[in-house]
Amino acid sequence: MKNILLIEQSQMFGMVAKKKLSEAFNVPIYWARTYKEVKDLLDEFGGDFSCALVDYNLPDAATGEVLDALISFGITSFVFTADVNDEIREMVWSKKVADYILKNDPNSLEYVIASMRQLEKNQQTLILIVDDSRTFRTNLSELLYVQKFRVLNAADGESALQILEKYPEIKLVITDYNMPKMDGYQLCQQIRTRYKADKMAIIGISSADDRSLGARFIKCGANDFIEKQSFLVEEFYSRIMDCLNTIELFSRLKEAAVRDYLTGLYNRRYLFEMGQQLFNEAKGSGRSLACVLLDIDYFKNINDYFGHDMGDKALCGLADLLREKLEKNEILARTGGEEFCILIPDLDTSGLVDLAEDLRLAIEKRSMALLEDGSELHFTCSMGICTTIQEDLDQMIKLADNKLYEAKEAGRNCIRF
Ligand code: GH3
Ligand code: MG
Ligand code: MG
Repeated sequence: MKNILLIEQSQMFGMVAKKKLSEAFNVPIYWARTYKEVKDLLDEFGGDFSCALVDYNLPDAATGEVLDALISFGITSFVFTADVNDEIREMVWSKKVADYILKNDPNSLEYVIASMRQLEKNQQTLILIVDDSRTFRTNLSELLYVQKFRVLNAADGESALQILEKYPEIKLVITDYNMPKMDGYQLCQQIRTRYKADKMAIIGISSADDRSLGARFIKCGANDFIEKQSFLVEEFYSRIMDCLNTIELFSRLKEAAVRDYLTGLYNRRYLFEMGQQLFNEAKGSGRSLACVLLDIDYFKNINDYFGHDMGDKALCGLADLLREKLEKNEILARTGGEEFCILIPDLDTSGLVDLAEDLRLAIEKRSMALLEDGSELHFTCSMGICTTIQEDLDQMIKLADNKLYEAKEAGRNCIRF
């Protein structure tokens, strides 16, 4: 977020809006009260505004001229209206604004702030439009640019598939039905053999005069369908957001399933899933793989002396340290209460020992939390390492566990391999 432009003639409403916007975003808010002031600011800053919050009823420009000026600079605008009737709706959407907001709704500013945050997110979201009509592609692209989405275009299904291969981060495909070479259904089916609905959404769109199009699109794997004839910008935006929200929900669920709730590190389940992949790759290519098991020494005492909450803080402190030092090509997971497992590819034994010793010393030195009396909480760790690849991953973990036991027996705060 760069600068925000606030256009509002009412002193009172302007002040409230400016305050709320400054609290929400740490960027300069420029407040114009008249069309002339808007023009002066545009002369000075050009399109250097992330977005604008606009009451277009200005004393010196009452019919929305200000919106034309903002659009010519590519500034995404949110418009305040006193009420919504079809005429206002029509005017607002024809001017390519991002959204309209009811001025007398007490929640309107919260709504607009959430929408501005959404714009920031949209900047990371890539959408592919597939349509053989250049005009339609351009129209849709412009609507998506208003919401700050990143947009790619394809004129037919084949090039769409090529683009998808090149940009697997595409979150949504909007596809026409009637196209040369490959129709919209075939494209949907092709996409779904490669990308499941938890990764990529599809919206079918068509002008063909056949009422069964929507149902058939959805049977071929599309999430939704829009008719060109009855196309409403407001509805278009809502359907897009619906699809993107669903994908985000999928990815959050997936992420939650593989993360440890307390420390945010990967959990045991992830370790075994991804670890197995890493193991297979290493085994297949003859590369090295090591397994480190790390366990806090006398952790029970921390809980007993300082309470369970302090124990939790200690675990988070250690997790932070491990994250800082690792997680480049290693897999780092919390596998049990105060036990962590690290799978390390491509490191020889001496490199491993250096790395483990570096970790051990860093843990010993670091203050992991502050105690109630202001003093620092320190603890140490023991590590067991299986340095060479074994028959399977379980075997590696078992050997590392044996070594960890040896390290504990040898007096703790040490490494055995
Ligand atoms: P050693 O040096 O032999 O490893 O001894 P230790 O005390 O660290 O190991 P022990 O296995 O005897 O005790 C581990 C304790 O960790 C017991 C358990 O209550 C505690 N614990 C397990 N999970 C959590 C957690 O999520 N939070 C907190 N605060 N404590 C936990
Ligand atoms: Mg322990
Ligand atoms: Mg233990």
